[in-house]
Amino acid sequence: MECPVCGRDCIEDAQDVLARLPDLFSPCDQCSSRVLDKNAPLPGRTYAPPCGCGKRFIDEVFANLYVIYVEEGIFSGKEPLRAVGSPLIHPGVSTVNPPFLPSGSLVLLSPVVTAPAAERIVAEVPEVRGVVRSGDFVPGTVDPALEEAPRTYDLLAGCDVRAGVFPTSAGPLVIYTQQSQVHIEFPRQRNPKIESVERRLEKGLPAVFVDACAGTGTLGLCAALHGVQRVILNDAWYAAAYWSAQNVLVNQKSLDVRDVTMHLSYSEMRGLQVSRDPLLVAEAGGEQALSVFFGDYRKLGGVLPPGPACTVLDLFDKSDLEANRRVMKEWQDRVPGDVFIP
Ligand SMILES: [Zn+2]
Ligand SMILES: [Zn+2]
Repeated sequence: MECPVCGRDCIEDAQDVLARLPDLFSPCDQCSSRVLDKNAPLPGRTYAPPCGCGKRFIDEVFANLYVIYVEEGIFSGKEPLRAVGSPLIHPGVSTVNPPFLPSGSLVLLSPVVTAPAAERIVAEVPEVRGVVRSGDFVPGTVDPALEEAPRTYDLLAGCDVRAGVFPTSAGPLVIYTQQSQVHIEFPRQRNPKIESVERRLEKGLPAVFVDACAGTGTLGLCAALHGVQRVILNDAWYAAAYWSAQNVLVNQKSLDVRDVTMHLSYSEMRGLQVSRDPLLVAEAGGEQALSVFFGDYRKLGGVLPPGPACTVLDLFDKSDLEANRRVMKEWQDRVPGDVFIP
């Protein structure tokens, strides 16, 4: 599958991603692991190259990045190692031990990195697939009134598309996202939102499941993995809706769907940024049927199949209970069936 961000082959089938996982971040017999103090400056400003097996311990990769930061004038040499940034591993899995990174397995997120340093990092540090300049806000959060397009981080060099592996009780899901455009979800052993969906499904599979604010599609795809026949995913933000559709394609072989048809391209959706009317992004048919929409969830009722649906509303701001009750009431006035916040 061609990557819409860089044109290369960043996106693989879930099965291919999962097959590589078992020893993907494990060392070979020759791999060395220098454990560095993350709260201290890099001692000696040196770093080791990757092992002959192609992997390198994460701290050594950070030593390499630290030296580039000093040479590029971002660091004076007094900053702690952790100030280099946040490592987002590709594919993201919950691991017990710090990883030995193969080539192309890291997206670096940093509030201080510069464009020239980012170019150098992608050219010189083989483990890094992309460099993103982050800000002190959550990227891709849609203003409920849809008045303003969400803010995003800046991809400075390389590609920031990466996958996360999310365990469910029906098997793992592989969820791709574009890290500068969508908020970061770390795969963990326990995922309360997935568990919340699974508790609902245990009461009996609904005929229709709606993931109305789907983000990159994890909860809707979880319902599909559990065998719900008709699943609808929707998001008003182009990157969320696009990657939801892409993730239907990625996980296709784990589902009872024969074919996936994409109706909108990444560039068409990116041009719109936010959509109010529910535009059909993708459809998958077969024993199960999945549809992905790009629009305001408040308008989704008009395109849902008739009859009751079980709806998950994964609202970004769950703290305002009064507002949540209002939103759930509004939904139930339009769509028969069950609605819950995960
Ligand atoms: Zn890419
Ligand atoms: Zn090795």
